[in-house]
Amino acid sequence: GATLGILGGGQLGRMLALAAARLGIRVHVYDPAAGGPAAQVAAAETVAAWDDTGALARFAAEVDAVTYEFENIPTASLDAIEALVPIRPGRRALAVSQDRLTEKRFLRDLGLATAPFAPVDSLAELESALAELGTPAILKTRRFGYDGKGQARLRDVAEAPAAWAAMGGAPSILEGLVPFSAELSVIGGRGADGAVACFDPGENVHEDGILRRTSVPATVPAALATDAVLIAGRILNALDYIGVLGVELFVTDAGLVVNEIAPRVHNSGHWTQTGCTICQFEQHVRAVCGWPLGDGSRHSDVVMENLIGDDIARVPALAAEGAALHLYGKAEARPGRKMGHVNRIVARSG
Ligand code: ATP
Ligand code: MG
Ligand code: MG
Repeated sequence: GATLGILGGGQLGRMLALAAARLGIRVHVYDPAAGGPAAQVAAAETVAAWDDTGALARFAAEVDAVTYEFENIPTASLDAIEALVPIRPGRRALAVSQDRLTEKRFLRDLGLATAPFAPVDSLAELESALAELGTPAILKTRRFGYDGKGQARLRDVAEAPAAWAAMGGAPSILEGLVPFSAELSVIGGRGADGAVACFDPGENVHEDGILRRTSVPATVPAALATDAVLIAGRILNALDYIGVLGVELFVTDAGLVVNEIAPRVHNSGHWTQTGCTICQFEQHVRAVCGWPLGDGSRHSDVVMENLIGDDIARVPALAAEGAALHLYGKAEARPGRKMGHVNRIVARSG
């Protein structure tokens, strides 16, 4: 049978490995952090540093295809793997989404709406970008940000020195604050044969920069939901993508604005585990292993709630409630750390 390599060993890797196991596909996890959520459930694991070329070569030799669960894998490691085995989704999707500036330009060149933006590499550039874009605005590091980390909001130009200091000198991007009425995301898949299938758009609520809840169906007009799906399809096709992609969108009076894309399964797609015949994890495994895409149509209305930090103390009560619990096997509940999620069916819709 086939063996899939997964770069990164967090909860997304864990749920990919579980989906692969259901399809009879073996999984090797490559994760320098030993014993993480994915390594606990994978059939085999390889633990080494990202720059251990020997270990990377052994890992690549053991697998038929390699995928990843986070986008910040060092380029040299990807080069070492790609010399031996295909990486899916491909390198272009990674390059585009690793850098918020490259990502914004890619989206703009596709004709999609984004927040107004300007590159910022110094305090002087931040001040001129603020003069151009105005306030309120958000300064973000171009790379490595997630869960709202590496971001500073500016209400006034007087906050520029503090905001620039918060970036720690990292190459950054200033974004105008988009006045949105809701946040949506579309999880879309594209097979090796070019077939595209998107899950229904979810409606997301963030707290302190971290996803709190995703609800389906989104409370938007049908035409807007269709537009969101079509946007995801354009991005998938433009990247000649193989696998599952997450697209985050803002709903505004002027239509949909793309916030960011993630070249992988996405937290806002966890509801598909309970709401669809085929979930995002199986869809991704199918695509990257060269299988046809599965039936991702939605049979239920679902609310997915993240369990963050101390929320883990609610597990006994949630277990008693009988809702679908997904726990990631993390030992320590640090503030802001995603420990698990719960999916609740609120209505049958099929
Ligand atoms: P993720 O964990 O989704 O990767 P991230 O750290 O990459 O998050 P963003 O998605 O860029 O961060 O921002 C987090 C949240 O902050 C967004 O979901 C949105 O609520 C808000 N936000 C970010 N950028 C803007 C913007 N330009 N205008 C309005 N709100 C924004
Ligand atoms: Mg992000
Ligand atoms: Mg985001």
